Amino acid sequence: MMTYRVAVLPGDGIGPEVTGMAVKVLEAVQEKTGTYKLELVWGEAGVNAIAKYGTNVPPQTVDVLKTTVACLKGPMTTPEEPGAPPSAALTIRKLFNLYANVRPCLSLPNVSSLKPNIDLTIVRENTEGMYSNIEFDVSEGVAVAMRVITRKASERVARFAFKLADQRRKHLSYVHKANILRRTDGIFNQAILDVSKDFPGVAVEGYHIDNMALQLIKRPESFDVIVTTNLFGDIISDEAAQLVGGLGIASGANMGDNYAMFEPVHGSAPKYAGQDKVNPIATIFAGKMLLEYIGEKDSARKLERATFEVLKEGKTLTYDLGGKAKSSEMCEAILEKIRRS
Ligand code: NAD
Repeated sequence: MMTYRVAVLPGDGIGPEVTGMAVKVLEAVQEKTGTYKLELVWGEAGVNAIAKYGTNVPPQTVDVLKTTVACLKGPMTTPEEPGAPPSAALTIRKLFNLYANVRPCLSLPNVSSLKPNIDLTIVRENTEGMYSNIEFDVSEGVAVAMRVITRKASERVARFAFKLADQRRKHLSYVHKANILRRTDGIFNQAILDVSKDFPGVAVEGYHIDNMALQLIKRPESFDVIVTTNLFGDIISDEAAQLVGGLGIASGANMGDNYAMFEPVHGSAPKYAGQDKVNPIATIFAGKMLLEYIGEKDSARKLERATFEVLKEGKTLTYDLGGKAKSSEMCEAILEKIRRS
């Protein structure tokens, strides 16, 4: 029987609750399928680790991650004071060179969606741009952040996005602000156009970021794969998540050539921590993406079907979807569907 060693980082705030539920769902589909085993190893990371270790991704967690094929990461609180360590997500993305952040946005049964048939995926460059973490004071009241764009990273994420578009509806939109950021986005755009020559079957269209923010509201159903730089991708992927029902159902993957990390798009929502209130589906769907990544597509489909059934029935929904159910009740409803499938 195939065994996959997978790291689980529960995170901060609502993280341990939603991650624990996603793990229950992963274990239930594994049991139902019966052809593979997930060997789960738990690690510490996030603000909770800073107090203990002085860093939010301690070396022993890095060692654990290195023994695994992929990681399920709960949301983590990011300290904002100058001099604080960078976010755990950023640290892990850099450590494992997880250069493509993939965020699918799909209209779900019985979940309020701006249009009924949205099915798009945003691919965000994950290692540079405004998240290069190079920021400094120039003089009193003047500070500079560097937006680093390289040909190498742009080409790498372009190739990833084209491959994905080629497997989907063969349409790729790239998003930039090259009318203002002529040098940096000039490099990004040129990389897209050069890589496009290797994918003649994929139609390509460029959009300025401000126009894309508008088009996503106007005709979201017309987009397939959207590729962009780090900050633009961060912003439009939250916008796109809201188009199909909000942060409670949005998950993302951080993909590299040899490792991948899966997480809900939402943060640690500290005000809801310990209340058994928030929607666990974003983290459960992160688990589904993990199953697809390791090649257990049948289990991923089982998980998705069970979740869709619960949504369709509309009886056990959390507050963000208009219901009154607790997180644990919604998770139990999904588990029940898996057991009966
Ligand atoms: P947040 O996503 O934690 O919460 C914003 C709001 O979204 C919540 O108040 C809640 O109304 C809603 N929400 C979030 N998750 C939900 C869920 N599962 N179900 C239902 N509603 C949900 O964003 P924030 O308040 O801006 O950030 C809190 C902390 O999380 C910050 O420290 C931030 O840096 C961090 N953060 C971490 C990640 C990550 O780990 N990948 C991502 C975003 C934010």
